[in-house]
Amino acid sequence: MRPTFIVSIDEELIWGSFDHTPALRFERENPDLRGVFRELVSLFDELRVPATWALVGHLFLASCARGEDGRAHGDLARPRYRWFERDWFGADPCTDRDRDPLWYGDDLVDAVLSARAGHEVGCHSFSHLVYGDAGCSARAAADDLRACVESARTRGITLRSFVFPRNSEGHHALLRDNGFLCYRGEDPTWFRPLPGTLKRSGHLIDQATALSPPVSEPNEQLAGLWNLPGSMLLLHRRGVRRFIPIAARIRKARLGLERAVREGKLFHLWFHPFNFAVDRAAMMSVLRAVLTHAVELRERGRLDIRTMGDLAAELAGGRA
Ligand SMILES: [Zn+2]
Repeated sequence: MRPTFIVSIDEELIWGSFDHTPALRFERENPDLRGVFRELVSLFDELRVPATWALVGHLFLASCARGEDGRAHGDLARPRYRWFERDWFGADPCTDRDRDPLWYGDDLVDAVLSARAGHEVGCHSFSHLVYGDAGCSARAAADDLRACVESARTRGITLRSFVFPRNSEGHHALLRDNGFLCYRGEDPTWFRPLPGTLKRSGHLIDQATALSPPVSEPNEQLAGLWNLPGSMLLLHRRGVRRFIPIAARIRKARLGLERAVREGKLFHLWFHPFNFAVDRAAMMSVLRAVLTHAVELRERGRLDIRTMGDLAAELAGGRA
């Protein structure tokens, strides 16, 4: 393959946090998420860098309503997680974007679709289900994917790329059956096999070093479904992570870009817009520096910048 750079952005607003963080605290800790989102879209537009925006499917909606049985999305099978015993949709306000903007995101879809950089709208599940957990049955995953496909279709979007919530993989065949061509597998980093706390420490130590992040080749997980593994999470500036210098983040991503060029592989950067909510200007400057470096390599003909879906479609075509 040609040396390739992909950026995928997981946007979930409150859907990725409602199971562990009260809404008021989430809002306080993540100010102006829409402002962050719009600023990101403009940065990518300015540099003409296409990205895959993996949106939680519920954010395709401008509103939703409670069913006659009083439940939200009563047609969708619920997961049964040991760590969350309530109704997965119990916190869904069943209102609209004006009243509860953290639960709806049709305006975010508009922003991506109206950008000029050639973005892809991807999918981050419908309600941030943790697919790889034993509590997520095949029926729950199938219903979740169907809801994604249907809500995207109302916006004229055909989904091709999937990002597993919490990078927890499962039910791959259902992705393919619902028309997805690819997903982002977990970054194959050295600290990935470590258990919980050690893994987080490993991530921090790794970020402070000048080790290059991993680069990968796409692999066909199932016939017609490609894994485009992640390489590097763009680290936020919350808590102890603020002690890792801005320059270290830039240096690490640049090493990944250079390595992709050198080895003819894929460097896949990813983040959540809420990773930019704290120390936003600094985070934007990091991203600008990384994208600018990638654009320079692109202008010299040494690096392609693609969306996940475009690369997967090309791989599928090549195999056919
Ligand atoms: Zn809803």
